Amino acid sequence: MQNRTAREIWVAALGELEIQVSSSNYQTWFKDTTGLSYQDNRFTISVPNTFVAEYLSQNQRSLIEKTLMELTSPDIEVVFQVNGRHQQGPSTAGSASQGVPASANLNARYVFQSFVEGKSNCLALRAALDVVQNPGKSYNPLYIYGGTGLGKTHLLHAIGHEARSRQTAMLCVSGEQFTNEFVIALRDRQTEQFRNRYRNAGILLIDDLHFIGGKEQTAESFFHTFNELHNSNRQIVITSDRPPGSMPVEDKLRSRLEWGLIVDVQPPDLDTRLAILDAKAQREQVAMPAEVLSFIAERTFKSVRDLEGGFNRVVAFSRLLRSSPTVETAAQALQDVASKVPGTSATPESVIKLVADSFKLGYDDLKGPRRDKQTAMARRVAMYLVRRETNCSLAQVGRDLGGRDASAVTNACKKVESDMATDSYLRRLIHDIQERINPGATPAA
Ligand code: ADP
Ligand code: MG
Repeated sequence: MQNRTAREIWVAALGELEIQVSSSNYQTWFKDTTGLSYQDNRFTISVPNTFVAEYLSQNQRSLIEKTLMELTSPDIEVVFQVNGRHQQGPSTAGSASQGVPASANLNARYVFQSFVEGKSNCLALRAALDVVQNPGKSYNPLYIYGGTGLGKTHLLHAIGHEARSRQTAMLCVSGEQFTNEFVIALRDRQTEQFRNRYRNAGILLIDDLHFIGGKEQTAESFFHTFNELHNSNRQIVITSDRPPGSMPVEDKLRSRLEWGLIVDVQPPDLDTRLAILDAKAQREQVAMPAEVLSFIAERTFKSVRDLEGGFNRVVAFSRLLRSSPTVETAAQALQDVASKVPGTSATPESVIKLVADSFKLGYDDLKGPRRDKQTAMARRVAMYLVRRETNCSLAQVGRDLGGRDASAVTNACKKVESDMATDSYLRRLIHDIQERINPGATPAA
């Protein structure tokens, strides 16, 4: 058949697919595809890059085939081709990272292909992919925040690799590097060169921006860089350990950080943890039985980095014992780092102190009568956590926290739970406090 026909068939198929998948899914994965050829039951679809090819091939193949079958013949085979170049079958996470040349400031392993999607990170992943497709157009800046070890740098570098492969002048630095470069430029009277270096970026990736918090001159310089790039529609992507609203920077910069899209990454749920370990075992060609992988995934690591550390420990431990990994060796290897049994050493005092600490308040503020918004919130969180983490009765919790009665404690706990359902920052804050109360014992999900 003619190429024109393939094009037409695919347009019809897209009409179907647009109804079947979510609109963000369609925008991200299907929008820039075309029907290339249809010959000998082989239907070739042109896609803009390898990761779209890989995604469609791994996740949407059967839907695409089903849709095309209805428009063509029942034994159609679908092939994805990157801008006309032929795409191999689905590659493993390992070969994906080998395919990307390492560079001074991008980790070669941090590519989209090796990033495991889960509920905890899918918004951030979609947004990152969107930015790659439409730099400077979808959301500017894209602001990704979340706890340490949850994949922020991985996503940022993945954007960097893609930008680089598209010949975009990409600049990727950490908040710390930015600060150091700025300080040196000031010292050597080279602020003009510094400014030009950043002004010429087609896309600017800044990792751990929170590092510049409290450094006024650096923050000011970043503010100007931001404005220059933003004014000329150059994409800016920022990661941070906290949302813009909690960044210790001047209002004018803070409000700009909120101009685009703000997404967070959360600790992964069990399925995602398993998928991450599975991918890691494949990539590193470690034979790890499924039950051992589950055993590790079920432990309570607070981040993906710690989860990977747990995996490495099990591998190292088994090698030491010259045995292959088993549940028993895994249990031994992990006994000190990730117990499943919550500790019971927490006392109301220790919990209240930790909560006060995290809210930057004093222990006595929580026990006393202060009623401003921040203190009231911290006190509710303290009630919630004393109730959960110690064996105290409601009445005793109330007594310990400013002489409230049991029903006030119940209400406070309910309020915290409902706030947590909508406020991911609060969720993480509480998770972090629990982590400090019982290291390793809080479920990562
Ligand atoms: P952060 O910058 O948020 O502190 P990183 O991006 O450095 O975290 O991630 C820590 C480690 O966890 C890295 O080795 C990274 O590859 C891995 N990782 C995090 N999230 C994922 C994911 N969704 N899929 C695969 N690996 C992940
Ligand atoms: Mg990081």
